Amino acid sequence: MIRENLEQVKSRMTASLLRAGRPADAAELIAVSKTKPAELLMEAYAAGVRDFGENRVQELVDKYEQLPKDIRWHMIGHLQRNKVKYLIGRAALIHSVDSLRLAEEISREAVKRGAEMDILIEVNAAGEESKFGTGLREAAELVWAAAQLPGIHVKGLMTVAPLTDDPEKNRKYFRALRELSVDIANKKADNISMGILSMGMTGDYEVALEEGSTCVRVGTGIFGMRSAAEI
Ligand SMILES: *Cc1c(COP(=O)(O)O)cnc(C)c1O
Repeated sequence: MIRENLEQVKSRMTASLLRAGRPADAAELIAVSKTKPAELLMEAYAAGVRDFGENRVQELVDKYEQLPKDIRWHMIGHLQRNKVKYLIGRAALIHSVDSLRLAEEISREAVKRGAEMDILIEVNAAGEESKFGTGLREAAELVWAAAQLPGIHVKGLMTVAPLTDDPEKNRKYFRALRELSVDIANKKADNISMGILSMGMTGDYEVALEEGSTCVRVGTGIFGMRSAAEI
């Protein structure tokens, strides 16, 4: 089941990229495995998946301990500063940096451990009250400020678009994020790369890829539905 789902997601990804005139390998797939048991992750692993996304620190750490060490773990959920220390050396990329205080904490913990941490700045592109992320207007400033800190590298931007039945409605947000990343990249500042644009989930990854996503985060489309209580 997981293998078939993966094949389907990958072929739809390729079709979207080609439709947009982009190379078929221009984007990577992160399998969002939050709430799913290790056995299911191992099924995806056996089918070739090496990038997994989790939204809770404890769950990421538990799975990190249990599963093969060549997995790249992506922290995609809201992150509290007191939990940052558990991610250093375990997470390959933190997608959800939405404040300077959080970036400072990541920097502090990375330096303390002699590590380097790659991060994305999370942008609340639609300005939804219920969502985390810095505003579109404040994002560039946060990128600059975070890039000054030792032990961390800003690799791009991330957004979670509104939940909708019509993915076309999210196109404008994906486009705005892409434009912002191009603006920031054009300024060519030290320690800032805008190579990663993490956008698109099960409901809207095809539109996100058409608008320049380099990294889609797909959970339901690979592992099936999560129960309502699990988010
Ligand atoms: C849960 C989650 C996803 C995956 O959502 P699906 O709709 O199941 O694909 C992607 N990104 C973030 C930040 C999430 O929390």
